[in-house]
This record gives sequence, C-alpha cells and structure tokens, in this order.
Amino acid sequence: MHGSCLLATSLDILFLQHRRVDQTPDIWPEGHLSDMPVRTGADVAAELAGRKLLRLTTNQHEGPRAGMKTWLTPTAICPECAGQMLHLPNELAQREWAILIEPSLVEELQGPRRPIMGVGIEYYLPKGYGEDAMVHYGVHLGSGTP
Ligand SMILES: [Zn+2]
Repeated sequence: MHGSCLLATSLDILFLQHRRVDQTPDIWPEGHLSDMPVRTGADVAAELAGRKLLRLTTNQHEGPRAGMKTWLTPTAICPECAGQMLHLPNELAQREWAILIEPSLVEELQGPRRPIMGVGIEYYLPKGYGEDAMVHYGVHLGSGTP
C-alpha cells in the first residue's frame, strides 16, 4: 500500500470528521447495507462541499450504470491499492480509470462507510447513476503492477 494513497484517504477521513459525517465501519458487508439509511444525492453533495465521487473501473469507456449496484469513493486511490483499501468485488482487478460522479445528480446513496477489512471510504448506490451524473470520465490513475 502506497503512502500517497494512505495519505489521500486519511485526509478525506479528516475532511468528513470535520464536517461531522458518520463513517460507521462495515462489519458484515452485505447485511449491513440494509441498516444504512438511504440518502439523497443533494444531501451527500452538501456534505462533500462540491467534491465529486469516483467510480474506479477497469474500463476506460465505461458508460452509465443506471439500475446497477455501484460503489463509489471520494478518494483517488491507485490501481494497486484500490482492492486492498476498499471492499470491492474482484479485489485484484486493476482499476486504472476513474469516472467523476456528481453526487447531487444521483438518486439514492448509502454511506459513507469504512470497510472493516480496508481503510478507505465508500458510498453505495443501490440504483447506480445515469449519464447526466458522469461529469468527467476516462481519468487515468496509472497502471497497476501485473
Ligand atoms: Zn497506491
């Protein structure tokens, strides 16, 4: 795990703490989801003070994810560290690309939470996001180690 990725995450945790945002750690990932209140995009946008959320992906040209369960993070984490720092499916996938998502244009979010087996911050979108929420895509985060 890189110091720069840990530092970026630590700064985001401090940012949310300063804004008094609950970051309840996850204990049993799937069961805990139903306990997390569903929030509006406007609510999350206000707590992030204009910041965007990131969809880390292996696909440079990934499209909208309307209707698809999706995880986002506020932190730019390199491909090598993402799987270790977040509770992501297919942990070893090299997520070399980021899509910037405008939270105010997302219908429903849950979180933030901090995975008990990771150190990152994640938001869950039970219904994904539409194309209008994708404010920038194809941001290269670097190449992971093979
Ligand atoms: Zn890293």
